[in-house]
Amino acid sequence: MSDVCWQCQKNNNLVYKSANLPDDQKQGRCRKQQDHLTNVATERAFYWDLVKESKVTAEREGVRLGQNDPCSRRIAMHYSFDFAQQVHYPSDPMQPGPVYFLTPRKLGIFGVHCEGVTQQVNYLVGESYNTSIASS
Ligand SMILES: [Zn+2]
Repeated sequence: MSDVCWQCQKNNNLVYKSANLPDDQKQGRCRKQQDHLTNVATERAFYWDLVKESKVTAEREGVRLGQNDPCSRRIAMHYSFDFAQQVHYPSDPMQPGPVYFLTPRKLGIFGVHCEGVTQQVNYLVGESYNTSIASS
């Protein structure tokens, strides 16, 4: 599994397939990917600046995760979130035999990470709570 973004995959595929093209077209494809990587570096630097500011704010204000009133502080904080859709776990530890390992339950994990305090809250979503839209 690759860890590059969709734009990188598309650009890299164009570069790979440019072996028999004229030099100006090869250079154009390489330049397109280089421009993308430059943008990514700029975005990443901006993100790290936000994380750094959030850590300074959290330290200064004594921010901790816990129950708070909404908008109870006049501060800015940076949060990241992600959803892991296909986490499997054994469904019944008392189930005898090898079927126990063959029929895991699915679990979704929605994680919200507070960058300022470097702590995360995970919401576990069992497969029985998943909804889907049936395609026609
Ligand atoms: Zn990329």
